Amino acid sequence: VLTPTVRAADPSPAPGTAGRAEQPPRLVLLIVIDQFRADLLTRFDAHYGDGGFRRLRAHGATYLNAHFSYASSATAPGHATIGSGRLPRHHGIIGNEWHRDESDGKSRPATHDGEARYVGVDGDDDGARSPRMLLGASLSDSMKLADQRSRVHSVAMKDRAAIFTAGRAADAAYWWHESTGRFITSTYYRAELPPYVKAFNDAKPADRYQGETWSKLLPDEAYANTWPMTEEWAPNLAKRGAAFPHELPQINPDKPQDYYVSLYHTPFANQLVFDLAKAVLDAEQLGRGPAVDMLVVGLSANDIIGHAYGPESAEVMDTMLRTDRMLAEFLNHVDRTVGLSRCVIALTGDHGVTTNPHLAREVRAETGRVDGKKLIAGLEEALRAVAPADASGGKLVRGLKMPWIYCDPQMAQLDAATGGGLSKAGVEYLRSQSGVANAFARADLAGPPPLADDAFRRLGWRCYHPQRSGDFLLQLEPMWYMQGGDAAGHGAGFRTDRHVPIVLTGPRVRPGTYYTPSDPVDIAVTIAALLGIEPPAEADGRVLHEGMSDAP
Ligand SMILES: [Zn+2]
Repeated sequence: VLTPTVRAADPSPAPGTAGRAEQPPRLVLLIVIDQFRADLLTRFDAHYGDGGFRRLRAHGATYLNAHFSYASSATAPGHATIGSGRLPRHHGIIGNEWHRDESDGKSRPATHDGEARYVGVDGDDDGARSPRMLLGASLSDSMKLADQRSRVHSVAMKDRAAIFTAGRAADAAYWWHESTGRFITSTYYRAELPPYVKAFNDAKPADRYQGETWSKLLPDEAYANTWPMTEEWAPNLAKRGAAFPHELPQINPDKPQDYYVSLYHTPFANQLVFDLAKAVLDAEQLGRGPAVDMLVVGLSANDIIGHAYGPESAEVMDTMLRTDRMLAEFLNHVDRTVGLSRCVIALTGDHGVTTNPHLAREVRAETGRVDGKKLIAGLEEALRAVAPADASGGKLVRGLKMPWIYCDPQMAQLDAATGGGLSKAGVEYLRSQSGVANAFARADLAGPPPLADDAFRRLGWRCYHPQRSGDFLLQLEPMWYMQGGDAAGHGAGFRTDRHVPIVLTGPRVRPGTYYTPSDPVDIAVTIAALLGIEPPAEADGRVLHEGMSDAP
């Protein structure tokens, strides 16, 4: 029996508990924090205010045992899964980027679209960004099919966050252009930026943080639980400074990008997203039209800061505290304009994060870093040793995009010609390397779903796509990580990489904290149920019914 604990902090009645008199929802608000491991919601709870995360939790169902159920724990697959209610195996976004054989075999971002052009900034001849690679249906499709007057808008710092969560049916998606500090879109959505987005950009909101200092929001004692990060453990910190306070430079007219990249490494970047989201909400009158509308808000700076300092740092804690304050102000705005009781809100993350191996050793964990370049060179050698002598001279291994290793297309023929000899040699080599727990070849993932206790192969199978996945799937030992300059990362399919919270509010939502196993793939399906519309076609998720009352 589930006994949800209702927080006593908020005396106002929770939406959904007041009976049938309440009015139907008119706005879906999807708020996705990039690199939002579940403990970031709970660990700093004592320092959150009443208007942000706590307000949502007081009115909502909080799922603290939610995990993405596939191995490619990265931003593009995460957002596509949240927005579509389907797995990467089915929506096709199996990584942030992959090698595309239909063009020239080059690795390209999942959002890359050769046909599209940028809108709002001077062009790029190699196309722009769009959801064209997203396969099948999303929640936005369901909403528009249920009511043709429904509108869907999306704002994030990262293009992949804005684009994939909102699906193919979105009316508009805006993301940040790091070289100019402006929000842009592409011709997939519209030929011109609407006047209010132009006006937003022309006011140069990103430039007002020049010379600003990012220091701790609360007194030092509040951060006593955090671990310092060092340049030795994360060489990229040399550019940012390893400890508070962090000073933002002035814009150098010859290299404005330096300033914008620095800004992106502070929580101030989230304010830009909330401010544009408010502008979109107001100008488009979302939630005040004849049908249910949707607004997506993607907070990407949390990931940039998390990579730089790690989830145990004072910087990540402070970013969460500031995100909480900004969220409170945003929720107030939505309450004033639409009414929170008329909203269905989902708050979640696109992936979690793994602890820095050096820091893990401080608590005596057995960890290390795998040198990806060495691993690839060794794999090349192992494959060459069994490849037929007449194999063409180019490299057999193209590269590593965790958890996938990509090979040249000739690999398939050579593997067939040797009776699977290359796959076998590759898997054997990879399994023999330190830090590697297991490795699988394509053929291991192509068949029926692996059994549940064949856990990692099952995670790989769920993000396998025959035209887009790599030739080998790599599983690392617990807490090991790929060599790199960042403090922390994700993408290896660890449980910590896949663990995110889900907070849902809306009519018929039963406030409380739930520990039943759940998955962000369930969000779109659950929202469809709350709206009383059909879920995205062929959805993989389930309705999170344990957090819903059985009222009609
Ligand atoms: Zn990331």
